[in-house]
Amino acid sequence: MFRKAIMQHLVQSIGTVSSPYTQKFGIPRQPQLVAQARICITLNAEFSADCVRGLDGFEYIWVQFLFHDAVQEGWSEMVRPPRLGGKKKMGVFATRSPHRPNHLGLSLLPLERVEIVNGQVRIWCSGGDLLDGTPVLDIKPYIPFVEAKPDARAGFVQGAPELLKVVWQAAAQQCGLDAETQLLIESSIAQDPRPAYQNLPERVYGMEIAGWNVHFRIVDKTAYIEGCAPCKS
Ligand code: SAM
Repeated sequence: MFRKAIMQHLVQSIGTVSSPYTQKFGIPRQPQLVAQARICITLNAEFSADCVRGLDGFEYIWVQFLFHDAVQEGWSEMVRPPRLGGKKKMGVFATRSPHRPNHLGLSLLPLERVEIVNGQVRIWCSGGDLLDGTPVLDIKPYIPFVEAKPDARAGFVQGAPELLKVVWQAAAQQCGLDAETQLLIESSIAQDPRPAYQNLPERVYGMEIAGWNVHFRIVDKTAYIEGCAPCKS
């Protein structure tokens, strides 16, 4: 709750995200970092094909959503962006942290296709940074001539993060993954999902992704995938 209640607005989700990321650990920290992270937004039944007429003419869409799995964790005035190694605090409004007053998220995603299946609207995008089940609050087209500012100052966020090298150990290579899932897993781990500045080479990390439980260790700048097995649920 905010200290001062000024105004309250009731918003309702318009749809829900299906994502290969079924837990928060391992989700890319921004959209488009892992192209293979394909998501589908299914609109609620009340939103017909008319609501998306013309959308497929755009290459990118803005997706506004609720960080629903952070709501119970509350918010902070200052947060520690992973970009600063978790060592320095920044004002919440200077960051993309999920721990913000209204827990609202915003991702710019490449639009792959809009599909109508039995009257239900499905919007497919690549490069998602969203948890499975994320409630979507709004969708808008991206308009490059007003919104693209490639030379703008970007505060403490300088360029794309450094990637880890990823090595598949023999056991992990033999678990029967198709090439696309393998690339999704590999590209997600290459983002270095560890909490900022955690350096525990002996620690085995587990990540749930695309229906697989994947285990890996990180030593220096290399991730070693040790095994993967289908998720039980
Ligand atoms: N691009 C968005 C933005 O700027 O608002 C999200 C950036 S935020 C730093 C991305 C992280 O939010 C992901 O790495 C994941 O840990 C977390 N996340 C994604 N979907 C979430 C959800 N529905 N609830 C809580 N956390 C979520």
